[in-house]
Amino acid sequence: MANELTEPPAMQESDCPFCERPVLVYEDPPRCPLCACPLDPEGMRPYDFPEGGVPAD
Ligand SMILES: [Zn+2]
Repeated sequence: MANELTEPPAMQESDCPFCERPVLVYEDPPRCPLCACPLDPEGMRPYDFPEGGVPAD
């Protein structure tokens, strides 16, 4: 039974050693969205959405 469920990975936060700043990671395997370098999965942490819901643009 091949059930191809493609769920997007949960948004996570990590510190990129190259950008030297916290970045949001939403790819699996984890990758920096800014410089595209692979990130250490052990350094990932769940991203805390700010209270008050999604910020309006
Ligand atoms: Zn980076």
